[in-house]
Amino acid sequence: MNPRREYTADSGTHTTADALADDASTASDMLTRSTWDAVIIGAGPGGSLAALLLSRLGYSVLLVDRANLPRDKVCGCCLAQTGAMTLYSLGLGDVLAGAVHVDTCVLRIGRSSNRVHVRPYFAIDRATLDHRLTSAAAAAGARVLPGWHASVRPDDSIDLRSASMTGTAGSVVNIRPRAVLVADGLGGTSLDERPEFGWSIRSASRIGLGAKLQRSPVRLAPNELAMLIHPSGYLGLVHLHTGEIDLAAAIDPNRAREAGGPGPLCAEIIEASGGDPGACDGVRWRGTPLLTRARSCVESGRVMVLGDAAGYVEPITGEGMTWAIQSGVAAAGYIHERCLGQRPEGSWSAQYNRTMRRHRRRCFVISRMLRHDAALRMAMSGVNVCPGALSFVVRLLVPGSDRFPRVTA
Ligand SMILES: Cc1cc2nc3c(=O)[nH]c(=O)nc-3n(C[C@H](O)[C@H](O)[C@H](O)COP(=O)(O)OP(=O)(O)OC[C@H]3O[C@@H](n4cnc5c(N)ncnc54)[C@H](O)[C@@H]3O)c2cc1C
Repeated sequence: MNPRREYTADSGTHTTADALADDASTASDMLTRSTWDAVIIGAGPGGSLAALLLSRLGYSVLLVDRANLPRDKVCGCCLAQTGAMTLYSLGLGDVLAGAVHVDTCVLRIGRSSNRVHVRPYFAIDRATLDHRLTSAAAAAGARVLPGWHASVRPDDSIDLRSASMTGTAGSVVNIRPRAVLVADGLGGTSLDERPEFGWSIRSASRIGLGAKLQRSPVRLAPNELAMLIHPSGYLGLVHLHTGEIDLAAAIDPNRAREAGGPGPLCAEIIEASGGDPGACDGVRWRGTPLLTRARSCVESGRVMVLGDAAGYVEPITGEGMTWAIQSGVAAAGYIHERCLGQRPEGSWSAQYNRTMRRHRRRCFVISRMLRHDAALRMAMSGVNVCPGALSFVVRLLVPGSDRFPRVTA
């Protein structure tokens, strides 16, 4: 990756500057520095927002990611309006340049479909959005270290190991920052040595699945988000500014095994919705671990956890990025207030639980309802008899659709 790469095509503003370290000498500069106010693990939206805000407040920040950036991520790519408004309010609206505006949700249960106008979503591919946010953090002063795997030690120091097979591979650098923010997502590994942060994972949870398609398997206008609901899972489709279609799904891993793999199960879901499964032929599928999970704690000593790394439920309402962004903002504020002596140590857990638990509980209830075979089949036959019933389901699923009650059959 070129560290001076600029986004000129559609935003023209953010420069990665040379704060993205991708060569051994820049990396070693960062790693030999003795003190950092904060080290943030994970350069997704949560980590980048926290890095950006702490840097703006004058703290020295190192943002580490094990991936080489930019990196893609399994995601429906629809940023909800609340998340977009948060970015605008922070002067970061240009990271959404080129995003496709989605204002209609087309929900398909079996062959019945219904469309509802929704509060706008911004559809943008994750490699672009995340790299723009990381670049904005770098432009604000954060030092960004891609390609390094972080591990939080029992004494709250961090071991950093180069993820590449060449150069400094194998060597471990230990750093001891004043605060450690873990934003390493749902597949993160940085807390593996810290059993007090252990996950409790729902055994009946679904897995996430994503792919980029050249064409949509169902009719899909650029302003539409299609949701295909099936007893074995659900699947979202949206146009991206790259010209591709983003497919993201949450599926039952046992059903996927029976169907011969995640691809064949997605084909089944598409076919059941009256779509063309051939649109997925030859695509590269990417998967996630089991989705629904919670940490036993989100703060201990100088370590705090945020974004997906703190807990997750199935992504049915398309709010995960918004929650990550908001928790990044909240975490930066919390650290600042703690430095000013305005917050007692240990109050991150209470703040996190207050703001996130309610959202996640709602999401959890919806996802449970949708996987209930009998209820779903009843809903399917119900919408065939009374198509208006589907609009009720859409309102339940899509945040903001209740404010836009226009329903078209
Ligand atoms: C199928 C699916 C569809 C979704 N659809 C939507 C949607 O439409 N809208 C929406 O808002 N949300 C959606 N989400 C949720 C959204 O993708 C996440 O909530 C969001 O990415 C969380 O951001 P984050 O910053 O917490 O973590 P992430 O974006 O996951 O970033 C974590 C980063 O940590 C890094 N990392 C991991 N371990 C280490 C380590 N040990 N050392 C260093 N780095 C590490 C990873 O490389 C990664 O870059 C969806 C999720 C799934 C699974």
